[in-house]
Amino acid sequence: MATSRPPGVPAFDAPELDAVKRLLVTGCHVLDREDITDGYGHLSVRVPGADAMLTIARVSPRLAALDRLIMLDLDGNYLGGATTPPFEWPIHARIMRARPDVQAVAHTHSQWTQLFSVLSTKLRPLIHYGTWMPAEGLPVYDDVGLVRTIEQGDALAAALGDQPAVLLRSHGDAVVGGSVEEAVQKTIRLTKVAEHTHLTLLHDPTPRYLTAEEMAAFETGGRDWARGWNYYVSRLDGAD
Ligand SMILES: [Zn+2]
Repeated sequence: MATSRPPGVPAFDAPELDAVKRLLVTGCHVLDREDITDGYGHLSVRVPGADAMLTIARVSPRLAALDRLIMLDLDGNYLGGATTPPFEWPIHARIMRARPDVQAVAHTHSQWTQLFSVLSTKLRPLIHYGTWMPAEGLPVYDDVGLVRTIEQGDALAAALGDQPAVLLRSHGDAVVGGSVEEAVQKTIRLTKVAEHTHLTLLHDPTPRYLTAEEMAAFETGGRDWARGWNYYVSRLDGAD
């Protein structure tokens, strides 16, 4: 397959991409280990400093491997690696196009975000694991079906806006982060918040959600994602 790398984008096999590739593969395995993904879903990471990204080829996150990665530019043009991009590559590419601050995107079909994607009750921060979420609740992308075109990806990015995550109606979620570690852990936390909210609503239809001011009380002065990351990596099969 022909490749035409834009200036500033290293070759797929360049050693400088080794670390970010390994991080991407590990992130996929963590999402699978935590039962967030099943046979579907994917994770991506921006090629550092470039309008390009790495994601898994058309394989399950559990089966992610260094030789099952693909590099695309943010219009979906092939730049290297495996030759079959995931069907929903525009989720990743178009969010990264719209949000230069985003370094990683996770897309999953978590049962808990699927649940809140169809409820009239917005998914709002109820417990402290949701303090990175907007107090008014996460936006929902209303269109149903796979996100397979640039136009659909742009519409999803518009629904996301400047928020950290968006629910996809009848589908799942897309969570962004400043790193793979952040996007993966926010995805895990999002499922915990959604499951907890589901349980809470069984007891009380009007629970006490956290306000923006209250969420500030949980602020630690810059969240350190390394501790949680080390924990999740330690749970992987074969981890030391
Ligand atoms: Zn999907």
